Amino acid sequence: MKGQDFINDAYLESLVRDTKEDKAAIRAIFAKSKNKEPLTLEETAKLLAIESPEMEKELFETAHELKQSIYGNRIVLFAPLYIGNYCINDCKYCGFRKSLRTTIRKTLSDAELVQEVESLENLGHKRLILVYGESPLYSPEFIAHTVRKVYETKVGKGSIRRVNINAAPLDVEGYKIVKAAGIGTFQVFQETYHKETYKIYHPADTRKGDYLWRLTAMDRAFEGGIDDMGIGALFGLYDWRFEVLGLVAHAIHLKETFGVGPHTISFPRIQPANGLNREDLPYLVSDQHFKRLVAILRLAVPYTGLIMTARENEAVRNEVMEFGVSQIDSGTKLEIGGYQEKKSEQELNREQFQIGDTRDLDETIRWLMTRDFIPSFCTACYRLGRTGEHFMEYAIPGFIGNFCTPNAILTLAEYLEDYSSPETKAEGYKLIDRELAKMKDDERKAKVVERLGIIRGSDKRDLYF
Ligand code: SAM
Ligand code: SF4
Repeated sequence: MKGQDFINDAYLESLVRDTKEDKAAIRAIFAKSKNKEPLTLEETAKLLAIESPEMEKELFETAHELKQSIYGNRIVLFAPLYIGNYCINDCKYCGFRKSLRTTIRKTLSDAELVQEVESLENLGHKRLILVYGESPLYSPEFIAHTVRKVYETKVGKGSIRRVNINAAPLDVEGYKIVKAAGIGTFQVFQETYHKETYKIYHPADTRKGDYLWRLTAMDRAFEGGIDDMGIGALFGLYDWRFEVLGLVAHAIHLKETFGVGPHTISFPRIQPANGLNREDLPYLVSDQHFKRLVAILRLAVPYTGLIMTARENEAVRNEVMEFGVSQIDSGTKLEIGGYQEKKSEQELNREQFQIGDTRDLDETIRWLMTRDFIPSFCTACYRLGRTGEHFMEYAIPGFIGNFCTPNAILTLAEYLEDYSSPETKAEGYKLIDRELAKMKDDERKAKVVERLGIIRGSDKRDLYF
């Protein structure tokens, strides 16, 4: 199956078309999900067939319950950093596409990259995703070089401890080169799993026009030694139910072929962009369907992190968080060089698309804490080689309590000491007290308290379990 097409369009179409709401079957699937069992395509299709408000309500409740009881209340925070927007492709939805003459093109120089990273560190960020257009300028060697530069750049007590990548698919050799630079997740979004639709948006005479090359991007990544893979679909190009099945089929393919499912799934919705008239898109996803699709993904792939980006506005993020989202970006700037410039207005001829949530990191952290989420900058697993087996944090009894929650608390304390506003700091320590009170293992709790003392009383940082 490696390197082969695993999307059977006709079968997925038939599942979407022919599956009807069946309450008893759906309730049996809810019970299975609560047991953390991944769903089959056919079971996922049954959830996608939900129509009645009654079953929708139960779906949201089940996703919420799963989140509460299984995943805990940590939310990992990151920021995207756009490195360059030259592009040889012509994806019709993207502000970087080559035929857009009004797009201002730029690649960060080394000095500019360092400035961007310093600005991000000064805000308190620890985890970045580097984003690139597709261009011979952005070779694997160039990507590896930028990753190394990011890790090398340190200002004050700041450091970037995990660099993820969102770039065009590479060949096996290319993945080996970027892997050697110490990357975390390599993300490639299929955009749409539906072949006919894929053709409409990605002209055949472009590199990205090759559907199979993109579909098998993660297969080659795995061969190149990357076991930390991020997949995604751009919602709004085709029927959202088909795309959910595509994502689930992709997760099943990776698990069956390599023994490791995707580390994360992203579900961006198309945003306004330079040269894009969203009114022309027949499959835009409503907020209500968006909520459903996230809840269904939560149930279908219990061991995969879910990423909700700042494309979504505050109100949507507020609601959808409840369904088991595990990572969000914050303080996001898409303009190349935008963190250093600190402009608040977006300029769409310099950026890939418009974002919906423009709150800064401090505000986001405060918001999360008022909702009783623990904002986390934890990077421990990846740095201790605990990768590729994301499921272990859910599968090993006590893992979350022993590792994830303590590490979230310690990284939050670093933020509160080094970067936060006084208001956020006060809220943060209240949250930490509440979390410590919940800890059952006294020995672990004592160690966390000891390390909190070190963070508060000295310059020592980066203490993790
Ligand atoms: N150029 C590489 C590629 O296409 O694989 C790297 C990723 S691109 C810079 C990042 C992602 O942004 C794309 O995969 C696509 O899903 C998303 N994107 C493009 N245009 C968008 C839009 N108008 N609204 C929301 N997301 C968009
Ligand atoms: Fe280029 Fe990626 Fe935008 Fe397509 S989505 S035009 S490949 S930057």
